[in-house]
Order: sequence, then structure tokens, then C-alpha cells
Amino acid sequence: MTKQQQLKALNEKWFKECKCELKKTATQPVPGVGNPDAEIVFIGEAPGKKEDETGMPFVGAAGKFLTEMLNEIKLKRENVYITNIVKYRPPDNRDPLPEEKDACREWLIEELELIKPKLIVFLGRHSMNDFFPAEKISNVHGKLLIKKFKGISTKYFFPLYHPAAALYNGGMRDTLKEDFRKIPKVLEKVSQS
Ligand code: URA
Repeated sequence: MTKQQQLKALNEKWFKECKCELKKTATQPVPGVGNPDAEIVFIGEAPGKKEDETGMPFVGAAGKFLTEMLNEIKLKRENVYITNIVKYRPPDNRDPLPEEKDACREWLIEELELIKPKLIVFLGRHSMNDFFPAEKISNVHGKLLIKKFKGISTKYFFPLYHPAAALYNGGMRDTLKEDFRKIPKVLEKVSQS
């Protein structure tokens, strides 16, 4: 089986097995998309309305902004892998509950085990706090965090503000764009170590 086929099989298994309560209200699951050999995996929070309608992550306004920032650093969405902590849309886009994150966690870990990225980029505090509960996004955005987690290939994590939060906030938007431009150098650095 190719890695793409393995990823498809993994998602199909979790479509059946995921016990997340949000299954009851969401239109459909939203698995990760992108290159199964990606060096960088981006992890967002949870699908929104557009993602729930299409079954694809980051396809709404925040997704368009993410695509623009990727293009600025000469990357296409097809070069990276984009996923979320929670795979089902929370009603009215409320924050995902701890039990919803717990129910989707093994799915995310299996995606990461298969892809084996060199760098994991957190999009927003929910995703960052899932791995680093004690950190504050306002303190650690744009800084490389190093920690070894069981079953995860990389120990390198790069937290960013969430594109949706930054979209309509000029200051945060500039900071996010500035942090995003650091990604190629960060990847180069972690690839050498
Ligand atoms: N926000 C997220 O965190 N994930 C998506 O897929 C879309 C918006």
C-alpha cells in the first residue's frame, strides 16, 4: 500500500470508529488533506461551516488566508499536510470541548505517525495547548518549541496565531505573517539537527 492509500484507510477506519459526540451534529467528518510525505504538518482547531459542507479543512476565509501565506513562502497546499485537532464541526463554531478533543486525539496521532513530519505548526492556541497546555500563545507564537512526545516523529513545534483570529485584527495579522515567513528557516534548522 502507498502512503496515500494508508492514509485513506486510516481515515476510513476513523470515520467508523471515532466516538466524538460532534458526529451527531456535523454534516460529515473533515479529515486532513495534503502530501502524506510532507515535511510540515499544520494543525488547526476544528472545521467551520465551509469545511463541514465540503469535508475539507481550511477552505473558508481562514483557509484562503493560509493558502496566501503558504504561497508567500513558495509552498503550495499540496506540498504540506493540513489537519485539525477535532475532525467534526462544533455547533455554531463554538470552541471544542476537552472530551471532543480527547475523542479525536488518536486519529490525529495516527496521522502524524504515518506522515512523520519534520516540523509541526500549530494554528492557534487550541492546537498548541493540546500539546503544550501550560504555554500561552501570546508568549510562544513564532518561537520553536522542542519536546519529545511518545509516537511522534518530530520534537519540533512552531506555534502561530490562528488565521481566523488574525484575519480581521491588523496587528495580529501582521504578526502572523511575520511569524509565517520564519517557517522556511525553521524547517532548514530542524532538518539539519
Ligand atoms: N479553522 C480551523 O481551525 N480549521 C479549519 O479547518 C477551518 C477553520
